[in-house]
Amino acid sequence: MALKVYNTMTRQKEEFIPHEAGKVKMYVCGVTPYNHPHIGNARPFITWDVIKRYLEHCRYEVFHVQNFTDVDDKIIKAANTEGVTWDVIANRYIASYFEVMDKLNIRRADIYPTVSDHMTEIINIVEGLVAKGYAYIVDGDVYYSVEKFNDYGKLSGRDIEDMKAGARVDVDERKHHPMDFALWKSAKPGEPAWESPWGKGRPGWHIECTAMSLKYLGNSFDFHGGGSDLIFPHHENEIAQSEAFVEESQPFVRYWLHNGFITVNEEKMSKSLGNFFLVKDILEHYSPEVLRFFVLSTHYRSPLDFSDERLSEAQRSLERLRTAVENVLQLGKMPDAANENKADELVKVARQAEEDFCKAMDDDFNTALAISVMFGLAKEINVYYNGVIAGKVQHTAKGYTALRETYFMMANIIGIFVQEQTGKVDDSQELVEQLMDIIIEIRQHARQNKDWATADKVRDSLGAVGIVLEDSPQGVRWKKR
Ligand SMILES: [Zn+2]
Repeated sequence: MALKVYNTMTRQKEEFIPHEAGKVKMYVCGVTPYNHPHIGNARPFITWDVIKRYLEHCRYEVFHVQNFTDVDDKIIKAANTEGVTWDVIANRYIASYFEVMDKLNIRRADIYPTVSDHMTEIINIVEGLVAKGYAYIVDGDVYYSVEKFNDYGKLSGRDIEDMKAGARVDVDERKHHPMDFALWKSAKPGEPAWESPWGKGRPGWHIECTAMSLKYLGNSFDFHGGGSDLIFPHHENEIAQSEAFVEESQPFVRYWLHNGFITVNEEKMSKSLGNFFLVKDILEHYSPEVLRFFVLSTHYRSPLDFSDERLSEAQRSLERLRTAVENVLQLGKMPDAANENKADELVKVARQAEEDFCKAMDDDFNTALAISVMFGLAKEINVYYNGVIAGKVQHTAKGYTALRETYFMMANIIGIFVQEQTGKVDDSQELVEQLMDIIIEIRQHARQNKDWATADKVRDSLGAVGIVLEDSPQGVRWKKR
């Protein structure tokens, strides 16, 4: 089955055909670094990370550009409040962005352009739009004239006349149409400013994404992504700027993908409601892996409701999937009985699971469905493991390898169980492993001596810190609850 994606432009699922065979070029709108990332930021970047991982799994060569809006009202305001320059704020929160996103196992984009580094490109495009008659200058400001662009409103499905009628009365009278937007803003006191043909000033918000995407991805590229709150006006304006500037028959972007909103306990997330969560605060209570898994358990276009209850639920589900990882790793240590029939049977199970997983991902990156396929395979692994442990099923290395590789392929696309697969543990974890071996040995010793009080005391004390012991024919295993 071919990959199909829901294109906001056409409001339907379309078969994905790249601009250039075997390659995918994508642009994702990044953050304005004036605060630490919140959960509304985590969703699009986790989503695009999985999309990228899947495209690479499908053997596409992916080039990913994501900007930082480092020149912005909110940054300037924060800088003035703290009495520092704008770049101190921007650099601090760009660092925070990377810290949080790295923890969430979000692989980095190929390039992270910033506004402050692209003034020349931005000014060039604004000049071009003025020269072509799409923009006009008023008192050192430059505005884009939406009436000059025939297709204005095509992404959001808005009508330019309706927008005029619905505009508020206090519209800037210097504008030709209420929806005209600033490409360049003249300098105000206390603000950073750059030289331009229209005097000192700084760019409007939308023009940066046009400048950066055209520069790094060309005049027509494959994917443009962001939250659905960016459809209007940001992405609508990007189209108007880019297509007017480039003047080509092909579209600026071939597929527009937008992720759904996040609500908190079924309410809109906002600072004024006090339900505004920073990722770093959530990570004090839940592991990054749980947060990532939680986000991906819902299809990216559906609304996602964030609550403690749902995060705990995601944590429990993730632990169920982790049991299969532990089992599969244990199976790797078993002797090979080389039973061909069993091997064929397991290979078939693995192939079917892989097919189902890819079918789900091919359907507009349906991670929710893909995860349910993963649960199915986890069950097969657990049944097989239990059979082998009980001596009822022969272990076959060939069959086991198929199960393991398929399960880990899925985990890698979802972006979980990295540590279990690499087997890499840091020093503190290694120490925990060694200490646990000692504790388990002491308990075993107590049990052999029929010292039940000590054995129970060890179990209860471990339980109090969230560690559960499980007896298995291979000995005692422990895990965190
Ligand atoms: Zn953008």
